[in-house]
Amino acid sequence: MLAPVAEWLTDARVAVLSGAGISTASGIPDYRDSNGVRRGRAPMMFQEFVSAISARKRYWARSMRGWPTVAAANPNAAHRSLADLQAHGKLAGVITQNVDGLHSAAGSPDVVDLHGNLHRVRCLDCAGTFSRADIQTRLEAQNPDLRDIEVVLAPDGDAQVAAEFLEGFVLPLCPRCSGERLKPDVVFFGENVAANDATAAMARVQAADALLVVGSSLMAFSAFRLCQAAHRAGKPIFAINHGKTRADELIALKIDIPCERALPLLCNLVT
Ligand SMILES: [Zn+2]
Repeated sequence: MLAPVAEWLTDARVAVLSGAGISTASGIPDYRDSNGVRRGRAPMMFQEFVSAISARKRYWARSMRGWPTVAAANPNAAHRSLADLQAHGKLAGVITQNVDGLHSAAGSPDVVDLHGNLHRVRCLDCAGTFSRADIQTRLEAQNPDLRDIEVVLAPDGDAQVAAEFLEGFVLPLCPRCSGERLKPDVVFFGENVAANDATAAMARVQAADALLVVGSSLMAFSAFRLCQAAHRAGKPIFAINHGKTRADELIALKIDIPCERALPLLCNLVT
């Protein structure tokens, strides 16, 4: 079943586009079921985050408890196999919709983080950037009551925190300008993908001869449009994915094997 993909894995002709499904084996929850339907609460909207202090408090309170899971997560066999394929010159690069930084942690060079990276925090007022780990230290020092309550983990470094704990939550301030509009350096719903990331992702698809989608339902337009571009250019699209995707009609071959099993097999076939 993997042989048709293996045939393309020579001379760095295949670009990879990954989504949440590649990180579930690292303990990071996925946010769509196999029909591509979103689970859980509505995501934070960019406009709300920017304009309402209550939204920022809610985000950072939840993030304070969700972040440690992302920070402690390790790359799994799927991330490692892709890095291995790259080290052997078999891939044209990795584009990811994930914000967990696990491709880079596995050793993949020059990853295009299409939706940003949770390991960075940006100030909306002075544009300073800070390490998320440093902001976490501040969050925990300012909000000791929140440290030990029970929470349910959610995707993207989020966790469900009961409303009663949001009241007294103390927002982290910008270490540089003391503003209180710190934002994780990730793309929220209602916000555009950074132009340089969108351009870099498209350039990577254009430079490749085929596209391999791993663990993504391709519901986000920023990812779907890359498949449209590949398809328009007559390049085959392969997918290692469980369940429906938005690009099913464009995909030449779909492999329904968990990616942490499929990618090591593929790696063994070609290295
Ligand atoms: Zn600032």
